[in-house]
Amino acid sequence: MDKGQKIRLQINDMTTDGSGIGHSEDGLTVFVKGALPGDTVQAEIFRVKKRYALARLLSIDEPSEDRTEGFCSLDSRCGGCPMGRLTYDAQLRLKERHVRDALTRIAGLRDPLIRTALEAESPWRYRNKASMAVSTGGIITRKGGIVENLGEPAVGFYRGKSREVTDCPDCALQTEPVASAAEALREFMRQDHITGYDPRWEKGLMRHMVVRTAFGTGEVMVILVINGKGIPHAAKLVAMLDEAVEEPFSLESVILNINKGKPGEIFGDKTEVLAGRPTINEELGGMRYEISPLSFYQVNPAQMVKLYNKAAEYAALTGGETILDLYCGAGTIGQWLLNELRKRDEEAFAGTKVIGIESQRSAVLDANRNAVINGIVNARYVCGKAESVLPRLMGNSGDTADFAASAPVDEDLRVTKADVVILDPPRAGCDERLLDAVTAAEPSRIVYISCDPATLARDVKYLNGKGYRFIEATPADLFCWTGHVETVCLMSKVK
Ligand code: SAH
Repeated sequence: MDKGQKIRLQINDMTTDGSGIGHSEDGLTVFVKGALPGDTVQAEIFRVKKRYALARLLSIDEPSEDRTEGFCSLDSRCGGCPMGRLTYDAQLRLKERHVRDALTRIAGLRDPLIRTALEAESPWRYRNKASMAVSTGGIITRKGGIVENLGEPAVGFYRGKSREVTDCPDCALQTEPVASAAEALREFMRQDHITGYDPRWEKGLMRHMVVRTAFGTGEVMVILVINGKGIPHAAKLVAMLDEAVEEPFSLESVILNINKGKPGEIFGDKTEVLAGRPTINEELGGMRYEISPLSFYQVNPAQMVKLYNKAAEYAALTGGETILDLYCGAGTIGQWLLNELRKRDEEAFAGTKVIGIESQRSAVLDANRNAVINGIVNARYVCGKAESVLPRLMGNSGDTADFAASAPVDEDLRVTKADVVILDPPRAGCDERLLDAVTAAEPSRIVYISCDPATLARDVKYLNGKGYRFIEATPADLFCWTGHVETVCLMSKVK
């Protein structure tokens, strides 16, 4: 296969970032951006590697039956919806297949039981968090850092992997207050000549606007991330944002976050309240959660309920268990499981306990607060990396270089055995040291919630080697129109 060669290709799969995948006659895998599974296309090869090639889409000879009209005014130019041209049903089937493929290829399972994906009732306006970048165009020169010219403010998303902001008037995945808050910010920046941040020169004030919406209560938080000490005329901006957020939503919190360095990260270390409260309240399934600006919280609340209920089904609590909630964030899963048990059986609930481990301090504070708010006294939380904290709770000081790790462990945090372990790591999956500690606690069930089928499969394989059998997995569509899929997976101890 050569560069410049034109080929006809049958597309039969798709990457998570939206490239169609086909195979050339000589068996090479070819990636074609813009082509969908089911399409037959003409494409021109522009890069050839040992095991794959990249090709440009020239034309679609036979369109896939699963193709639909795009819904987005930007036509996904921001890169946020790589599956935006597939029917919703086709997305679900593709995501199920991705989970199945990972578990067979990487974990080496033969014919694993993959349930039908938990599908979203509505794939629109499902996100409770929008992280938008702000810019005023390429207008800041290097000459002594002087702002020579102020372009039109853009509030939107980074285009693909670039640092170029695609202005987004309204995103079909975000709640209504996101579009109106973004418009208020643009108007404020125009009126008050506020510069947007330019990552090339690290100059300009306004970097990001993050909007969080609590679906159960309608409460909204706006976080303004700046490269500077403060926003001139901040009170005016707060008033404009308040005006912009309309019923049934209400603006309850405006937060300022200062990020003067950290080019690749949204948030800096300093956070203060600009107006209103420091947190917003969420209410779901009879639980109340307080959400603070920087803590992780599931982005699709409607699907989170389905995911947690599936996790509860897999955990199959009967009462009296010790549950480890690892990578627990704001403590939401463990507390959900306890509450479901409480609904069925108060007494069983009282005898069951949760120990949560989470590395982000603000999330641990939220977890403790959430436990109090929900009347849960039988949950305790420890801040730190799960892979070093759990071995320590189990009496193995592990990392001797860690001063805090040498301190004695509270009696009620000491773990010798666990009955159920919940794992919910970020995309990188679990550290082997953690999986070793988990299996040493000999839980009868492991409920693994994953946002990356590949690392899930790698860890399933590892756990398999340590005496845990894969029972089944259920994909959940938490990120409709994107290539991402969440999976909840049950493993049980081989007797
Ligand atoms: N279970 C929670 C959060 C899952 S997201 C929920 O359902 O909402 C993953 C969480 O793991 C994040 O809160 C992140 O801060 C945390 N985390 C990342 N690496 C970690 C580590 N090594 N040890 C413990 N927690 C970690």
